[in-house]
Amino acid sequence: MSAYPHVKFLKSAHGPADFCEDFGAEVAVSGRSNSGKSSAINAIVHRRDLARTSKTPGRTQLVNFFELVPGQRLVDLPGYGYAKVPPSMREHWRQLMDAYFGSRTSLAGLFIVMDARRPLAGTDWQMIEMADGRGCPVHVLLSKCDKLKRNEARETLRRARSELGEAATAQLFSAVTKEGIDEARRVLRSMLSGSRERPAREAEPLVQPWEKRG
Ligand code: GDP
Repeated sequence: MSAYPHVKFLKSAHGPADFCEDFGAEVAVSGRSNSGKSSAINAIVHRRDLARTSKTPGRTQLVNFFELVPGQRLVDLPGYGYAKVPPSMREHWRQLMDAYFGSRTSLAGLFIVMDARRPLAGTDWQMIEMADGRGCPVHVLLSKCDKLKRNEARETLRRARSELGEAATAQLFSAVTKEGIDEARRVLRSMLSGSRERPAREAEPLVQPWEKRG
């Protein structure tokens, strides 16, 4: 069964003017080019080809908005860290990220996908700082963990958690074996529901945050 059976693509934004309406809650997903970000998104929402796995890494700088359920979105941020990207494109990426993190009041959390074989690169830390700067929780997916031996994977997780400290939570993830998928979905749901005040009593019907506005 699909985790989000009615997930749908909303729009691609080249710049802040194209961002979709800022209401409800959204979780952004970022990561270096080729980190496995698209595969992770597709695995988490259980759709084979929602986020396109890119053939020309670093060449598309779009912010892609997907609706999980009305008022809850997943946002695929453009990948980074591709060596051949010209400085002007790098600058555009930085400005786009500044605009995104500086403006989205619905931003409830950030997932950062990192290849478990080379996690925590400079730009990964930059993403953590951008999220931290606005009090947005960060969760790290150490992806492609199927490529590591069991004890290597465990050690990678231990080291990543230790380096991240309070800055972010982290887990092992594989889009191929689906390891860590339940944990990732749990964190996603908790970020999306924790972004605004919860209903007063659990027994009450769920009042969605965007219904409380005004
Ligand atoms: P993106 O550029 O970050 O969106 O990365 P993609 O999702 O396009 O994946 C980049 C490459 O890594 C592709 O060849 C994928 O098939 C591969 N890949 C992605 N996730 C996994 C995984 O969990 N395990 C393995 N073994 N390969 C993966």
